[in-house]
Amino acid sequence: MKNYNVTVLAGDGIGPEIMAEAVKVLSYIGEKHDTGFTLTDGLCGGVSIDEHGKPLTDEVLDLALNADAVLLGAVGGPKWEAMDYSIRPERALLALRKELALFANLRPAKIYKPLMNASSLKPEVLEGVDVMVVRELTGGIYFGGPRGVETLADGTKKGTNTLVYTTPEIDRIARAAFEIAMKRGRKLMSIDKANVLECTELWREVVIEVSNDYPDVELLHMYVDNCAMQLIRDPRQFDVIVTGNMFGDILSDEAAMLTGSIGMLASASLGAKGAIEGLNHENGRAMYEPIHGSAPDIAGTGKANPIATILSVAMMLRYSFDMTEAADEIEAAIERVLDKGLRTADIAGEGETAISCTEMGEAVLAELRA
Ligand code: NAD
Repeated sequence: MKNYNVTVLAGDGIGPEIMAEAVKVLSYIGEKHDTGFTLTDGLCGGVSIDEHGKPLTDEVLDLALNADAVLLGAVGGPKWEAMDYSIRPERALLALRKELALFANLRPAKIYKPLMNASSLKPEVLEGVDVMVVRELTGGIYFGGPRGVETLADGTKKGTNTLVYTTPEIDRIARAAFEIAMKRGRKLMSIDKANVLECTELWREVVIEVSNDYPDVELLHMYVDNCAMQLIRDPRQFDVIVTGNMFGDILSDEAAMLTGSIGMLASASLGAKGAIEGLNHENGRAMYEPIHGSAPDIAGTGKANPIATILSVAMMLRYSFDMTEAADEIEAAIERVLDKGLRTADIAGEGETAISCTEMGEAVLAELRA
């Protein structure tokens, strides 16, 4: 029997509530698919500050570094907001991303038919939308130098940031995106601004080179401004989108909001070799988490929607453990739960009765068992 080590960092606010439901689903999948999941809990974020004076201890970082995957809830909250930025709960996320070298951020945006009215777009534009944005996470203009603000001789100021990508950086994110496209609709849209920025001209060149190793994937290119428009005009044309850090930051939020429901959106961040060599856990590190925060306004009320975290488990099974069938089962169970009209408060329409976080978790489990 295969056994995987998963570090579970529930975090703050609604973190422990949504994580409890996600862990139930993962345990059930382990039983059903004869796979062992050894789960090790760690403190992360505000709860770690309360206990140890810092958002991420070396012990917990070690746990994450030695795990086959990390599952994270959310961190932060008003209690820690007045603290210095350098020791705030959110620093734990940055440290994890850096230490695990998570260079590929995956953000799926899928429309669930029963929730189409949650989006601000028309149903006929949305039906069937299923986009995956692959964003480069550790390079580009957010990290390039020189950077900073300086005062010039005449007293005016100059602000500088620099867009930098090297061929190995582009190569590995492109490979990650092609691998993901192979697991999906085999269509990859690379986003750049090659008409204006030389660095993204290089981006296009390298992506085309990598495409020679993936003859089964259709590769297309689009300028970022056009992509921003096309995502709203006709999002169905996209399967996998790959782009640099800043463009990806913006486009992944735009794509996510097509669905209109923050409690439904999962994400994955893949590190080092994993994404290159067939997305297999033996080769790399990965962290899976919902895109939403710790929702302090509803923490402890039982109103949180656990679906984004449960979908993060599905992504973990798909991308770290190659358990495609199990991932499909979870996603299908969630669709059936929604089809039956079950809703947590955030996705309940007018006049619809909302169920609790635990009830939603139980409903997904019941569908999985059915
Ligand atoms: P948020 O995502 O926590 O909440 C925004 C709104 O969405 C709130 O009204 C909240 O109730 C609702 N919401 C979020 N997740 C939900 C869920 N699963 N079910 C139902 N409703 C949900 O964003 P925020 O309020 O801007 O931030 C709160 C805290 O979370 C801050 O401390 C912020 O720094 C932190 N944060 C953490 C992460 C992370 O851990 N990855 C991400 C974003 C924000």
